[in-house]
Formats: sequence, C-alpha cells, structure tokens
Amino acid sequence: MQFAATPTRTHAPRVLILGGTTEASQLATHLAARSDVTVISSLAGRVSQPRLPAGIVRVGGFGGVAGLISYLLDEDIRVVIDATHPFASKISSNAELACSTLGLPLIALDRAAWEPIEHDCWHRVPDTHAAASMVNHRLNRVFLSIGRQELGAFSNCEHAWFLVRAIDAPSAMLPANSKLILKRGPFHLNDELQMLRSESISLIVSKNSGGTASYAKIEAARALRIPVVMIDRPRKHNVPTVSQPGDVLQNLEQLL
Ligand code: NAP
Repeated sequence: MQFAATPTRTHAPRVLILGGTTEASQLATHLAARSDVTVISSLAGRVSQPRLPAGIVRVGGFGGVAGLISYLLDEDIRVVIDATHPFASKISSNAELACSTLGLPLIALDRAAWEPIEHDCWHRVPDTHAAASMVNHRLNRVFLSIGRQELGAFSNCEHAWFLVRAIDAPSAMLPANSKLILKRGPFHLNDELQMLRSESISLIVSKNSGGTASYAKIEAARALRIPVVMIDRPRKHNVPTVSQPGDVLQNLEQLL
C-alpha cells in the first residue's frame, strides 16, 4: 500500500528508508525537503494508525528477501537506509542480503543502547522468555512495556500482576492478572512517575530500545528505585553501522 501518490519520476536518486522509528521519521523529514533526492519510507504496518513520515510512504512487508529485491529493482532504489528498531532483526538481515545481492549501498543506523547509571537497578536478560520466568512471582506488580508482539511470552505468568502498555490491542493472550492501557509515546517523566506510583509498580520489564521516546520510564524507575528487567538487544547487523541520523546523512552525501 502506498500513501502518497508517486510523483512523476525525476532523475533524483531514489532512497528507501526502512522505518518505524523516530530517527527514520526525522531522516524522512530532512530528505523530503530536498529536491536532489526522492525519499520513500517503508513501514511494516504493525500499527493501525501509523504516524506517516514526510515524503512517499509504503506500508506492508515486501515478501522476504526475494520480494525486497524485486521492490528495489522496480522502484529503481539507489540507496537503502535501514533505520528500523533495534529489536527488528529480520528486516535488517533481509535488507543486508537484498542489498549485497544487488550491489546496492546500505546505510545501517543502530542507535546506542541505554546503559545503567547510578541508582539504576537492572537485571539484564537475553530475551522475553527469560524476562517472563524472572518476574512471575505473586508479590510482583509488573509494568510490562515491551510493545505487543512478544507479549505471548508472558501469557502463562499466573502469579504476578501486570500493567501492560501497548499502542494497539495485543492479539496474544494477556497474563491472567493484568490491566491493559493503550497509549503511544513519546512518554514524559512526570506521567511515568505518576503511573508507576498510582499502580504501585514494583518491577518494570523493558526492551533496551535506546533513544529518547521511551526513556522516561527508565528515569522514573531510577527516581523511585524500582528494579528493571532489561531485555538485551538481538544481534541485528552484519554490516558497519552508524549511531546518529546526522551520520546517515553524511554517508548519504558521499554515496550520492
Ligand atoms: P522484523 O521482525 O525485523 O520483521 C518481520 C517482517 O516484517 C519482515 O521480514 C518484513 O516482512 C516486515 N517488515 C519489518 N519492518 C519493515 C519495514 N520497515 N518495511 C516493510 N516491511 C517490514 O520486524 P518487527 O520487529 O516485526 O518490527 C516491525 C517494524 O516495527 C519495524 O519496521 C520496526 O522498525 C518497527 N518497530 C519494532 C519494534 C520492536 O520492538 N520490534 C519497536 C518499535 C518499532 P517481509 O519479509 O514480508 O518483507
């Protein structure tokens, strides 16, 4: 599905941003304002009412590596920017394979992970299943803030109580003792403090997403001395990465 009408093709090189993140939207805003490139953002379509980035936007999977290769050829894409979320590893590996097959340049943006600082109390775990087995205790009131895709890992947690926050209603079964709130970030420190206090949260489960949009809950946990079960990132890239949107733009200049 494509949201903005494709303009008459100019000779401006066509750049594909694999998106779904704040940084991807920032890059799209910057590039859409330029006349020397045509930018297309691609969203997976996980969110029912996505915030559409500037420029042309397409939504939905490509159909694996083969589908992505066809898309890149059909749309005459010259450079791919992978600005997907640190936990979206499949699309990044597909992009690497498709770009190497076609000899296309790929700029991979990998925003820095959060690191614990003084007064943070983190228990690092490798994945959601490890997090689920760690928190399932009847005394725990858990703020589960991992999006909705991997909530299924917690569906058998019958002992703890969960406050689950997601943008859209999850399709996975929620834990027996839970309350769902549907809300979209960015989130602010005062609101997070108020929510954690009013729900008497004793433990937080978070992905180590990095970035600012969802960091307020980590700051709130620090202020209230609430421990955080922090899910480490999957290995995502096999190509060199940059950590800032500005670095992406610099690399793009060199390639164009
Ligand atoms: P994933 O596991 O890496 O990708 C699964 C499949 O979804 C891909 O194989 C691809 O389907 C499709 N896909 C993913 N990103 C796409 C994109 N930008 N454009 C078109 N198709 C895409 O990804 P995910 O973890 O499900 O995340 C989906 C999207 O949500 C990502 O774009 C990511 O940036 C965003 N997001 C993810 C998280 C998270 O925690 N995982 C959090 C915030 C935002 P085909 O194989 O059919 O091409």
